[in-house]
Amino acid sequence: MATSASLPKTAYCYDPQFLKHDLPGHPENRSRLEHALAALEQSGLLVRMLPLTPRPVDLDLLGRVHSAGYIASLRALAQRGGGHLDADTYVGPASFDVALLAAGGLVELVRAVLEGQARNGIALVRPPGHHAVPARGMGFCLFNNIAVAARAALDLFGLSRVLIVDWDVHHGNGTQDIFYDSPQVLFFSTHQYPHYPGTGHWRETGTGAGTGYTVNVPLPAGVGDRGFGRIFDEVLTPLAERYQPQLILVSAGYDAHWNDPLAGLNLSVAGYWRLARTVVGLAERLCEGRVIVTLEGGYNLEVLGAGLVATCHALLGDSDPGPDPLGPSPWAERPVDEVLRAVKGAHGL
Ligand code: ZN
Repeated sequence: MATSASLPKTAYCYDPQFLKHDLPGHPENRSRLEHALAALEQSGLLVRMLPLTPRPVDLDLLGRVHSAGYIASLRALAQRGGGHLDADTYVGPASFDVALLAAGGLVELVRAVLEGQARNGIALVRPPGHHAVPARGMGFCLFNNIAVAARAALDLFGLSRVLIVDWDVHHGNGTQDIFYDSPQVLFFSTHQYPHYPGTGHWRETGTGAGTGYTVNVPLPAGVGDRGFGRIFDEVLTPLAERYQPQLILVSAGYDAHWNDPLAGLNLSVAGYWRLARTVVGLAERLCEGRVIVTLEGGYNLEVLGAGLVATCHALLGDSDPGPDPLGPSPWAERPVDEVLRAVKGAHGL
C-alpha cells in the first residue's frame, strides 16, 4: 500500500512528439531535447521521477493567452507545410500539434502539482514559449507555454497569486506582455540587456492594477554566479516573501551560461544549481513546495544536460548538483550594484 512518504515528489513531462518540431542547423533543434533526456537518463534521475503524458492543450484555455486569429493562422501555416513567422522562428508541418502538446504538458504538470499527485515538476518540452506574445510567435517560440500554465492555475484551479521566475538569458517579453496589467501574476526576469528582444528595462514594472507586478533585472554582459546569487537573495527572495505566491513557475533557460553560443552572461552550472535551490527553497517555505520548471533556451548541449540535471537534483531535494563538465567561468564578473540599486528602488525593497 502506498503511503504519503512513498508518493513521487517530482513529476516530469516529456513526449517524443516534441522532436517532430525541427529544423536542422537551427540552434533550437530536436537534438537539444534528445541530449537533455539522455543526460537525465544517464544521471539516474528519471527513474526517481513521476512521468506524465502530455495531452494537447484545450483550445479554450489556449485562447485565453493567444488570439484566435494567431492560433488559426499558425494551424494554417503548418497545414500548408510550414514556413517562418520571422527570421528566427520556423514552423514545420508538425509544429502546430507539437506546440499544442508542449503547452498541454505544462497544464498536466499544473494539474499534478495542484491536485497533490506530485510536489513539484519539470516540463521537458519544445518549442520554447516565453517570447510568444498574444498575437504572434517569435524568438523560436510558438505558444507561450508558461503563460498557459499560469492561466490554467488561475482559471481552472482558482489560484490568485502565481510567481513566474524567468532566468533565461533573454527577456521573457511574451510572458511580460500577457500579464502586464495583472496582479495575479508576479513576473520576475533576469536577462542580458541590451540584447534580444530589446525589452526588459527595470522601468518596465506593469500597468494599471498590474503596476509593480513586473520586475525586470536587466544585466550587462559578464554578470555571473556571484551577481545572480545576490539578485536572487536581495530581490527575488524579499519579493516572493511579500507576494506570498500559491505556485511558482520557472522559465528555465540555460543560455545565461558562460559557454552559451548566443549570449554573454557568465553563469556556471553550479550557479544554476544555486538559482534552482533558491527557488525550490522559496516554494518550500511559501507554497507547500509547489514549483514547476519549464525548459526555454540553452544552446550548448553539454550545458543544457548538466544544467537540467542540476535543476532536477534541486527539485528532488538532493544535496549535490551532479557533475559540472565545464566548470566556473574563466572571465571576471561584472558588478551588479548599480542595477540592484535601481531595481530595489523601483520596487520598494
Ligand atoms: Zn533564451
